Amino acid sequence: MGDTTVVETIHVPAREGRACTVRAGQLLKVIDVEGQQVVDLIAFNADAPREEKLSGAHTANFNLDVRASVGSYFWSSQPRPMFEILEDDAKGVHDYFYAACSAPQYEAQTGDGDHPNCRDNLTRAVEPFGLGVLDLPNPINLFQNTFIRADGKVDADAPVTGPGDSIVLRALVDVIVAVSTCPWDSPDTDFGRAINGPGPSPARLEILDPA
Ligand SMILES: [Zn+2]
Repeated sequence: MGDTTVVETIHVPAREGRACTVRAGQLLKVIDVEGQQVVDLIAFNADAPREEKLSGAHTANFNLDVRASVGSYFWSSQPRPMFEILEDDAKGVHDYFYAACSAPQYEAQTGDGDHPNCRDNLTRAVEPFGLGVLDLPNPINLFQNTFIRADGKVDADAPVTGPGDSIVLRALVDVIVAVSTCPWDSPDTDFGRAINGPGPSPARLEILDPA
């Protein structure tokens, strides 16, 4: 991706959310600090956040796959390319058919409706931008290794990422970005035995200026 300068670093503790703005042309590096950690990613056109959002469904439409990686784009709801994928240690192992985990999901699947969850994390993260829970698009779940079995059931393996692995995205429009380090840690349920490998861990965001 050539020479770059880190202009902002944001630490995202395990089980929490953070948000930032990224200008068109800047790079967003999402780092899986300890490895095997899912990072839910949402984004909004900074100038019209309710009119254009990151869209995994449109990404599937235009890429004709569910394993977008280097050389393709994450698309917006317009639809048009919102991020160009410049580097990807996960080699396309990301999920974009699952909604953010939520209190009702934990209640239904684990009996613990008070569990930290990505939906609440993302909601808190975007509140300073005047956005709320009803504005959240479904995320692209970076590093989440879900797949569909031959019988139609969904299943998940641990992410393929190791410590320090990352994805680097070039913003193609000015965006508000929010992420959540997925708190899923309920290994005894049928779904998501290994969603976050050995357990939730932190992430780090770097915003970079190209040289
Ligand atoms: Zn989650």
